[in-house]
Amino acid sequence: MGLKVYVDGEYYEKDEAKISVFDHGLLYGDGVFEGIRSYSGRVFRMDAHIDRLYNSAKAIMLDIPATPDQMKKIITDTLEINNLSDAYVRLIATRGCGTLGLGPDRCPSPSIICIADFIALYPKELYESGLEVVTASTRRISLGTLYPQVKSLNYLNNILAKTEALNSGCSEAIMLNANGAVAECTGDNIFIVKGGRLITPDVSSGILEGITREAVIELAGKEGIPVEERTVSRYETFTADECFLTGTAAEVISVIKIDQRLIADGKPGPMTKLLHERFNELVRNEGA
Ligand code: PMP
Repeated sequence: MGLKVYVDGEYYEKDEAKISVFDHGLLYGDGVFEGIRSYSGRVFRMDAHIDRLYNSAKAIMLDIPATPDQMKKIITDTLEINNLSDAYVRLIATRGCGTLGLGPDRCPSPSIICIADFIALYPKELYESGLEVVTASTRRISLGTLYPQVKSLNYLNNILAKTEALNSGCSEAIMLNANGAVAECTGDNIFIVKGGRLITPDVSSGILEGITREAVIELAGKEGIPVEERTVSRYETFTADECFLTGTAAEVISVIKIDQRLIADGKPGPMTKLLHERFNELVRNEGA
């Protein structure tokens, strides 16, 4: 039996799960989404993901045609119907069908899609060896455009940055903001370690407020590690003791080279390893 995908109240076989070519999600990237993980049958930080989804939708004035509780049920039902307990869930709200014009006023009913599947963002070996990354010339969208906090279906500038990474033989790219400060990676937040302190770009650096990032900041707090959320320069990434990325799909992954500069002697550093371990414990134990 194949994967079943939720679309507007019905479950369809993977190949039959379709939306209209007039959906503004397709035509204009007009919509919002979440990437969510379930571990051992428990959805990790479901409330935080639902809050972020509704905040993203509010920011783009999209009325999700379901309550937050109904959305939670869609997530758990989709996992259940597919018999998945360790999975990745993609929850999407699009503007829905409209005309061939930008106007969202022509889209009377937004669509909800929920896909549950497996995800392997990076090969397993990279968690042992660490990633090489480059700084992309493509900048993160600025605060003056669409707020980077909005997890919208418009990922084209991130895709351009990801392409730069892949063209350089790397899996990820660091994106700078309009001021040239470090923002985040194409699908992950970034942390550096310097002198025993954990440092990560703050929200005003133009980042998506990652749920994994938040969990790692909490874990660092519990370990007594000082955390700074502030502007981070490229120079600080080059001269960091350690560097790692966080994201729902990536979890915690070490970075060992940035623009050909070796970080942490080219091996995942001790604080990265500690926080990675603590994160693995957290996802296994939270809510158990
Ligand atoms: N930044 C961007 C641009 C992302 O798309 C994501 C999610 N893939 C993240 C950061 C990490 O956020 P989270 O930990 O909530 O998955």
